[in-house]
Amino acid sequence: PYDVLVVGGGPAGASAAIYAARKGIRTGMIAERFGGQVLDTLGIENFISVKYTEGPTFAARLEEHVRHYDVDIIPAQRAKQLRKGELAEVELENGAVLRSKAVIIATGARWRTLGVPGEAEFKNKGVAYCPHCDGPLFQGKHVAVIGGGNSGIEAAIDLAGLARHVTVLEFLPELKADDVLQKRLFSLANVTVLTHVETKEITGTDKVDGITYLDRSSGETKHMDLDGVFVQIGLVPNTEWLGGVVERTRIGEIVVDSRGATNIPGVFAAGDCTNAPYKQIIISMGSGATAALGAFDHLIRS
Ligand code: FAD
Repeated sequence: PYDVLVVGGGPAGASAAIYAARKGIRTGMIAERFGGQVLDTLGIENFISVKYTEGPTFAARLEEHVRHYDVDIIPAQRAKQLRKGELAEVELENGAVLRSKAVIIATGARWRTLGVPGEAEFKNKGVAYCPHCDGPLFQGKHVAVIGGGNSGIEAAIDLAGLARHVTVLEFLPELKADDVLQKRLFSLANVTVLTHVETKEITGTDKVDGITYLDRSSGETKHMDLDGVFVQIGLVPNTEWLGGVVERTRIGEIVVDSRGATNIPGVFAAGDCTNAPYKQIIISMGSGATAALGAFDHLIRS
């Protein structure tokens, strides 16, 4: 068996694998898509000490760094089940079963998409999902935020400090965000809120130039000129495969303590699949390192 088996090949998994391997323990890593969400990212400007890099370059560097160590990489495989007895067992979709003394789950998350025409086509060309990442690209521009929940309203407040104007579009007749956020939002002069509207299409030629939406109250279809669209309708953790084995929050995030430990002894988790409040590369790498050190501590005590 492995001493530590990492499930996931994004920043959190890569960091966990390197920290584990550097302890000289037998380390495995199941990496369905090496790089994870970073592969879908264009410019990265907030990975501290690297002023600018691009997703695919960053992902290649991650892989190179992991391969520098004695990590048994199992590429292009998905985990489909976790069982925990004396050892942990991870069953892959191809039927293979891997055993390990400790497991670090780092299967990340995915942004919920609208599924309207133009969204996929203009991704990274005006369609964005992460205000912390891409907000500064829209300095002085008119952007829309789709989604009136907490993440949408936080994004709108954040973007209002950079953009010329921010328009919020919410499907329901009212915003769902906490009152304090709504108060703050409505105090801003450069924000417009449209409720009871349904986004129908993101338009553009080589990049976004607007959106078409249905006013659900009047039944009218309208168009608005825009430079960018932030889709904020939820980040879904890739944890469905765990079923009820590990404690998760209402929205499926794995609950971890300050050492990355879950409620199951020997099972740790890191990165965007956990209940960490902020989801960023540098944060997921920190939590991957924490989980590996937590797992090592667990191994030397048991
Ligand atoms: P992920 O990157 O999601 O990696 C998860 C890994 O697990 C992948 O390898 C995946 O293939 C694998 N996996 C999933 N399910 C399974 C399974 N069942 N079995 C085996 N493997 C599985 N952050 C920044 O700091 N700066 C930015 O500029 C930035 N820009 C972004 C732009 C976009 C478009 C997106 C989507 C995100 C951006 N982020 C940015 C956020 C950042 O990418 C994430 O916070 C970070 O990648 C999380 O790392 P992770 O390892 O936890 O998860």
